[in-house]
Amino acid sequence: MPRSRVTSNPNVDGVSGEYAPARADHDTARLPGAGLAGIDAATELERAEQARALHMGELASVHSWELVTAVDGPGTRMTVFFSGCPLRCLYCHNPDTMEMRRGQMVPTSELIDRMLRYQRIFERTSGGITLSGGEPLMQPRVIDRMLTAAKAVGIHTAIDTSGNLGWRCTDAMLEKLDLCLLDIKSGDEETYHRVTGRDLAPTLDFAQRLEAAQVDVWVRFVLVPGLTDFPDNIDRVADLAAGIATCRRVEVLPFHQMGRDKWETLGMNYQLADVEPPSAEQTEAARAIFRHRGLVVH
Ligand code: SF4
Repeated sequence: MPRSRVTSNPNVDGVSGEYAPARADHDTARLPGAGLAGIDAATELERAEQARALHMGELASVHSWELVTAVDGPGTRMTVFFSGCPLRCLYCHNPDTMEMRRGQMVPTSELIDRMLRYQRIFERTSGGITLSGGEPLMQPRVIDRMLTAAKAVGIHTAIDTSGNLGWRCTDAMLEKLDLCLLDIKSGDEETYHRVTGRDLAPTLDFAQRLEAAQVDVWVRFVLVPGLTDFPDNIDRVADLAAGIATCRRVEVLPFHQMGRDKWETLGMNYQLADVEPPSAEQTEAARAIFRHRGLVVH
């Protein structure tokens, strides 16, 4: 799940991109299809051709994109939110990104063209591209194409992933990756499964590959009272983060209720309606657990 952000602002100039949204504490819910200004949707393709183009990575299923500063990686970044995710996190703030079919079909070349237009901004701010979602590795060939295009001109690259589909990220792709925002939903197997409906092991495997490939890692952990905030669970996440030699920072993100309406709108069963966000003290106490292991914590 992506980090704090402000929803795409239609008033922002798509070329200069020079705005710096206030750093929020957590992920902001996004509107379906919002933030695709300036990128043409490929609506004319026949269904079969569309499926082929999606498979080949010529076409991407995209929720939105935005230009942000000081989130999703260093500097000013173009963050693209891809549609589709294998996880079903109980606290997901953007459940409308879970299904790939809900995204808009956009030629990957359009995304690349737009990224290249921001190259000077990236250079000036030491920023780059962040591929997020949903789960970007649902569309590995699109990700590969974008990483390749970015590295061909020296743009800094990042992906924001749970690591569940890390096996789809080839070694060649890892070579083109500068930073991974790795969402570790929980350190305890049972809790991880309860939170996401999936297993923790693929995330751990991917973390090892990131380390071996010398890819910088920023670990993200969402603190949810009554769900992920048990001391033993936080300890385990901290141990996992401390065990990744290339972990450069940890972000402890306090749970909030900004995504609740989306669950209702989609007719999905939202189980955390009565959960209060953690207090500032609780969040700070969790951060202290990570700091205690010598990690840089935000
Ligand atoms: S990984 Fe979880 S929080 Fe992120 S998009 Fe998927 S279901 Fe939502």
